[in-house]
Amino acid sequence: MRLPEAPEAKQSPDPATFLDSVLQELRSRLREEQFATWFRGFDLVEVRPEEVEFSVPSGFVRDWLTRHYFSVLDSAVRAAEPDANRAIKLTIDRNADQSPAVDAQLRAAAAAEQGAPSEKPRSKPLGRTVMEPQREGSMAGSVELNGDYTFENFVVGPCNRLAHAACMAIGDNPGRAYNPLFVHGNVGLGKTHLLQATCHTIQRKQPSARVLYMSCEDFTNSFIQSIQSGRLEEFREYHRSIDVLVIDDIQFLAGKEKTQEEFFHTFNALYNTQRQIVISSDRTPLEIPTIEERLVSRFKWGLVADMEVPCFETRVAILKRKARSRGVEMEDDVAYFIAERVDTNIRELEGAVIKIIGVSTITDRKIDTALAEEALRGVAAARKNQVNFGDIMDLITMEFSLSARDITGKSRTQAVSLPRQIGMYLSRELMDHSLEEVGRFYGNRDHTTVLYAVQKIKKRVKEDRLFRDLINNLRSRLQSGSLR
Ligand code: ADP
Ligand code: MG
Repeated sequence: MRLPEAPEAKQSPDPATFLDSVLQELRSRLREEQFATWFRGFDLVEVRPEEVEFSVPSGFVRDWLTRHYFSVLDSAVRAAEPDANRAIKLTIDRNADQSPAVDAQLRAAAAAEQGAPSEKPRSKPLGRTVMEPQREGSMAGSVELNGDYTFENFVVGPCNRLAHAACMAIGDNPGRAYNPLFVHGNVGLGKTHLLQATCHTIQRKQPSARVLYMSCEDFTNSFIQSIQSGRLEEFREYHRSIDVLVIDDIQFLAGKEKTQEEFFHTFNALYNTQRQIVISSDRTPLEIPTIEERLVSRFKWGLVADMEVPCFETRVAILKRKARSRGVEMEDDVAYFIAERVDTNIRELEGAVIKIIGVSTITDRKIDTALAEEALRGVAAARKNQVNFGDIMDLITMEFSLSARDITGKSRTQAVSLPRQIGMYLSRELMDHSLEEVGRFYGNRDHTTVLYAVQKIKKRVKEDRLFRDLINNLRSRLQSGSLR
């Protein structure tokens, strides 16, 4: 039997005519101002057998088109060339006008469209998209905010109350409330969520405000690119004309001297003109290694708010909220069950909810504690060898025949203070807590006390063999989960 012949590779159409008809089709499908705003500078790069490549003026436009206009673009391309089926690729035109003024217009248009949805359907992309991973040349740190990261979706508890209140105040009154705001806390405790909620609120209340949210890495990359492409001036102008600058995960600035220098000047320019700056980090300003002293001191000018691990009640509230947002009412006993077992961060709580709902859907069973236990078994096993404050305390008190009250108490005799220091040292080494958190656990001690303890133990481990054996033994008992 003969196989059917492979269809002939499609002849490429004449580029100019093809672009014309795509633009015609787009115009007929869009309102005039939508077309004028989003397809200004839209150009054809090349039609290849498998794909057609268009260029757009910036990363921001590309992201916006991909998210909101892709199906319109896709159908315009299909209409212009009905029997072809090429993928659509959007790239950024490095020579396009990306001046701050143009960018501000686009952002305002985007904010307006988000408030008043366009008439055309915003369905999922139909065709195949090929996205270029890098965002070269894009001055606007065109990071899309996550639409779910709002204040409405944020559960407030004692662990995050201060950071939440500060972000709410900034949302209402950027530049006037706390400036700068420095939020720190371990991974998965809601820093990004709060920062983005602040951006959403400002954008909603003041659509013309220029809000720039970017990760520290975006800032660094954008800075480096601007140097490479000889556009440093433009980079500076752009970042110094922002109304609200939000930089997530600033700890990545550690060790990057030139970027720190640039950030320092950006910071000053914005701060001096009462523009709002919000920064997050997984550590306190003091604990970011190799960050310039003058930056550290600036971070402390405003408010430094830390986010802690949520307490049991907050964990329960978060679990219920996360389940409800997925259409499930979680019973109290199930929420208690999970909250007792998953206590490190909120991302894990979210993961547990997703897993449990998944198992319930697949097996068509009701969500009860038995099902939760089954679903979490894998999670628990993975966490088994993770050490927590309690484990270390148990081991130390057992080993040195002391009570937890001795360890957290005031005594400074060698018999108590050495075990306490060992506990602090192991806590820092085996867990992911800040000096402050460790200090708080060991009887509300200052972070410098913890630092001193860690250094002292480190030194002795290096110099004293027997002591090193003792520490190694304690560590391996903790890690294997066999305290005895
Ligand atoms: P971080 O940036 O501190 O690592 P994220 O902001 O990414 O943490 O939070 C991790 C996940 O937990 C996100 O999905 C976020 O929506 C959720 N989350 C964090 N804190 C809360 C909260 N208080 N209420 C509801 N969801 C939260
Ligand atoms: Mg984050």
